[in-house]
Amino acid sequence: MGFYRIAVLPGDGIGPEVMAEALKVLRAMEGAFPGLTLECKQYPTGARCYEETGTDLPAETLDACRAADAILFGSAGLPDIRFPDGTEIAPQLTLRFVLDLYAGVRPIKRYAGVPPVLAGDPAIDYVILRENTEGLYASRGGGIRVGDQVAVDSMIITRAGTERIVRYAFRLAQTRHGAPADGKRRVTCVDKANVLKSMAFFRQIFDEVAREFSGIQTDHVYVDAMTLYMVQRPLRFDVVVAENMFGDIISDLAAGTIGGMGLAPSADVGDTYGVFQPSHGTAPDIAGKGIANPIAQILSAGMMLEWLGERKQDEQARAAAKAIEAAVEATLLDRRFHTADLGGSASTRAVGDAVAAQIGKR
Ligand code: ATP
Repeated sequence: MGFYRIAVLPGDGIGPEVMAEALKVLRAMEGAFPGLTLECKQYPTGARCYEETGTDLPAETLDACRAADAILFGSAGLPDIRFPDGTEIAPQLTLRFVLDLYAGVRPIKRYAGVPPVLAGDPAIDYVILRENTEGLYASRGGGIRVGDQVAVDSMIITRAGTERIVRYAFRLAQTRHGAPADGKRRVTCVDKANVLKSMAFFRQIFDEVAREFSGIQTDHVYVDAMTLYMVQRPLRFDVVVAENMFGDIISDLAAGTIGGMGLAPSADVGDTYGVFQPSHGTAPDIAGKGIANPIAQILSAGMMLEWLGERKQDEQARAAAKAIEAAVEATLLDRRFHTADLGGSASTRAVGDAVAAQIGKR
């Protein structure tokens, strides 16, 4: 019997809109899987929360995150509400550091039914693993500024931090079915080892860890070439691992190749905690209009169930995760349920209703 406490943090902008649809789908899931109970409680976070309370991540919210089995996050931050130093409110970044969520897991999967982006409409299916806790973004809130003339941020690569993300990548490859192009299990290391010492070190550790795993091919690609290959031959990729900022950048490009940010889910996980949120931000340009695509948020809820299923050896949760993916796939086959970002006119709510209805049909 799976009973899980979920801390729900809808956040700002389209966050609450897409979150409402993910919660609707999770309720439908409880109906379809009677052994699964999800106690979802909502907590404040984000830019509006900062404006109202003086903090973007109240202690009560952080305590609830620590006490929960999993955290379902919407999106946070608004361009017109900033910290006094001018940086944007980003509690999702704070959570990554505070909860040590070192693995940013971004599945890049092309769903049939979505208008093709790349020529030949390749059946893209790979996962980007972004190191989440060090790299260039470790300088967030730090860095050095010398008057009006010089500013420096440092790239931090540690042996321990790199070993754990690379091991995560190889373990993930063991559970998958290989790259669509040739069925070979493959982990691709994305770096800039030809220019930076820190990146050469990242690659060296990648190669060391790779020796612990047999039956998985390794591959090295410089990040600039990677942006080309993701467009020209995306079927060669199975699992891709990258430093924090490189992972951030290639994730958005990857989302573009499968139809956009509205379709790209993500999980930020460590050894203890997991935060599940769409790859997109608060999209202030479309917030409040009821037209945001909720699929990325719904798929993120599916990743949460999969993670819970793995951790707790809960077959129902694993099956529920698969059911969400299947329901999304079936929904996207019907153009009536395409939102504006996919060239359609469906509302956020209509898409959530359609996915929930698919689950009800099981
Ligand atoms: P962040 O810095 O937090 O990533 P951003 O403003 O740079 O935020 P997004 O909020 O992801 O980026 O928005 C980028 C573009 O993608 C915007 O034009 C936005 O409207 C669009 N977009 C993002 N998410 C969705 C969605 N779920 N449905 C439809 N369009 C979306």
